[in-house]
Amino acid sequence: MTGSRPALLWFREDLRLADNPALKAAVATGQPLICIYVFDVESDGLRSPGGAARWWLHGALAALDASLKEHGGALHILRGAAAPIIERLATETDASAVFWNRRYDAPSRAIDAAIKSALKARGIDAESFNGALLHEPWTVAGKSGTPFRVFTPFWRAACAKGEPAAPLKAPDTLVFHPHPKLAGAVALTDLHLEPLRPDWASGLRASWTPSEAGARAALEHFLRNNLAGYAANRDRPDMASTSRLSPFLHFGHLSPRQVWYASQAAVASGASKASCADLEKFFSELGWREFSYHLLFHHPDLATDNFQSRFDAMPWRQDANALRAWQRGRTGYPIVDAAMRELWATGWMHNRTRMVAASFLVKHLLIDWREGERWFWDTLVDADAANNAASWQWVAGTGADAAPYFRIFNPVLQGEKFDPDGAYVRRWVPELAKLPAMLIHKPWKATQDLLAAAGVRLGETYPQPIIEHEAARKRALTAFGALS
Ligand SMILES: Cc1cc2nc3c(=O)[nH]c(=O)nc-3n(C[C@H](O)[C@H](O)[C@H](O)COP(=O)(O)OP(=O)(O)OC[C@H]3O[C@@H](n4cnc5c(N)ncnc54)[C@H](O)[C@@H]3O)c2cc1C
Repeated sequence: MTGSRPALLWFREDLRLADNPALKAAVATGQPLICIYVFDVESDGLRSPGGAARWWLHGALAALDASLKEHGGALHILRGAAAPIIERLATETDASAVFWNRRYDAPSRAIDAAIKSALKARGIDAESFNGALLHEPWTVAGKSGTPFRVFTPFWRAACAKGEPAAPLKAPDTLVFHPHPKLAGAVALTDLHLEPLRPDWASGLRASWTPSEAGARAALEHFLRNNLAGYAANRDRPDMASTSRLSPFLHFGHLSPRQVWYASQAAVASGASKASCADLEKFFSELGWREFSYHLLFHHPDLATDNFQSRFDAMPWRQDANALRAWQRGRTGYPIVDAAMRELWATGWMHNRTRMVAASFLVKHLLIDWREGERWFWDTLVDADAANNAASWQWVAGTGADAAPYFRIFNPVLQGEKFDPDGAYVRRWVPELAKLPAMLIHKPWKATQDLLAAAGVRLGETYPQPIIEHEAARKRALTAFGALS
């Protein structure tokens, strides 16, 4: 009676039905499915999701459960260390096979390897797939087989592998095990992922629809409106010029293969007037995501250890007040403060201002990049083990393909260049909204009359800069230079 034994489908960061190779393989067995999600904050080394990501996960799991219900099934949620749970469920349900899509951080890989060998030892089939990347980290290597440390040759080698695999359609019909009795299954609300007291998530709710349908809508909107012009506009935080797909990609509501092929199709059909340069630039950003995963796979301690160990001797400053001012968007530098408040309000920040705000923390304030990485981890809806760590190390100058340490963003010039009319600052730092564009990025240069006319009292309604730019730049050059 093997035909009636169920197949377990273990959802992780692949919360979708389309282009889901594990789902396809499970369906292909012809056996009834049991779909599960394990909320695991107990396994060794696994990092707990931050607050914003937990909020997202709640919506994402509810949406996946609703999609499965439309097909006559459900998502069964469990809580605890994944390995014993999966092994127990496989036995209790008499499953013939367990399917999942791979993750690439070291703790997850260790868990998955242990589960696979335990299941196989018991004669239960266990199969994993690539659901998250265009090309998996070990498939892109230099001539000598060594991992890449620099983006451009990495991306050249990845592109030389040819087009990524075409995305899979969502199965038309799904057959579920009629009455799976899963000991230990909990209700989604039992995970307490949503903030209640206080409920700080209203800005997140207003900004996002965490679901596969939300991802499709965001992708379509981007392809119709913003892929054309992406190469020129992507650095402008005052324009809605990027895809805002990062949380959808992180949680796997969408795969990069779907994004890749949908972008090409939009251009081919004329639905997008994007140029080759737009498409190439957009694809290369997906390439940075691939590169970050490549780095994390080959350097599992990316979020905790300087990639270049000479920076271990860095005399980072302990300055709780400055750290708090940065976190709260009260540094006195409008572009930095706008960025940090956008993050707090929406769980997302534009890439240009991520770089400026991160650089300010590390270079101007000389605060350890790991403090910033942790804050982003807690507040970003797209907080991602690979992208966050690799990007922080890039900005800090401690990373593999790092910006050189002497590249120190001037927050005033960055603001004037990328937010020329001050619209971004006006939106997120409303107390400065009435300042003219030429002063909005440096309110301390305004005359008392102008400040008074704009209703700004520096040091009261808006802070004075917490550090003077030129002095901070010199201090950073000395500190970083001593280690170079
Ligand atoms: C300090 C810092 C921390 C960051 N932390 C994260 C993080 O935790 N999670 C995260 O997804 N991205 C992170 N990024 C990368 C980048 O800022 C975001 O991916 C991007 O802003 C998301 O917006 P988007 O979807 O509109 O991007 P688009 O410009 O539309 O790009 C499309 C996709 O490509 C990927 N991508 C784009 N830029 C990068 C990049 N520089 N590195 C890696 N992937 C990229 C993302 O998946 C993104 O959704 C960080 C960048 C910095 C400087």
